[in-house]
Amino acid sequence: MFRPTPQGPLTRIRMASTFLGRPVYEVSAYAFADLLIDSGPPQRAAQLVEWCRGGPVRRVVLTHHHEDHVGGATALQEELGLPILAPVGAVPILAEGLRIPLYRRAVWRSPRRFRAEPLGPVLEGEGYRLRVIPTPGHAFSHICLFDEERRWLFSGDLYVHERVRYLRRIESLRDHIDSLRKVLALEPELLICDHAGILENAAGRLARKIGWWEDLGGKARELRDQGISMDEITKRLLGREGLLAWLSLGDFSHRNLIRELLRS
Ligand SMILES: [Zn+2]
Repeated sequence: MFRPTPQGPLTRIRMASTFLGRPVYEVSAYAFADLLIDSGPPQRAAQLVEWCRGGPVRRVVLTHHHEDHVGGATALQEELGLPILAPVGAVPILAEGLRIPLYRRAVWRSPRRFRAEPLGPVLEGEGYRLRVIPTPGHAFSHICLFDEERRWLFSGDLYVHERVRYLRRIESLRDHIDSLRKVLALEPELLICDHAGILENAAGRLARKIGWWEDLGGKARELRDQGISMDEITKRLLGREGLLAWLSLGDFSHRNLIRELLRS
């Protein structure tokens, strides 16, 4: 699936990989002014190049190094000569090539390595000025882009959903919550998320997301203090592990979330 949808000055480009002809796991990139923010999964790279060809996009900006956001970068660089800007921490990883677990390679395929330029603290162009806000947690390299004048927050994978119930093994929840607080303090109005789309009332949503994890953490600590095991706490608060935990061999799981909540 490849579906560009204009919404005012933004175009949301919805992409999904397909399995037996059905879309699975959707992710978006955004075109804004001369920028393309994130670049979808490797499977959709050819369509993204065709869409960008002859259009206003002159630069590609990546919010973090995950394969479903950097997948179009190599082709856009090679075929259209577009410069790629990435968070400082992501540049060496992207140059070396990502090592990703098999279950994710199967969904997305592996992106080819490419050379990106490190993002500075501000990204400016005709009609926009975006602050680059380091927001580690979901990935250590993660950044958000904040348009102070419009109060828009390009949030990559920082938000995704108000009530995220899974966590990858490698993610740091403490950093993630600190990052949510950091962007909440900027008082954004529009949240431009790579999974949930373009959402009004950004600050309220970010605050509710922090609240969900904090409440869950409080309940988990209460149960732990009663001597209840982590597996039992997980089951009581989030239910049984679903298909995702099974398919990812436990990389994405409820248990990872509870473990991280008890740590923070
Ligand atoms: Zn990600």
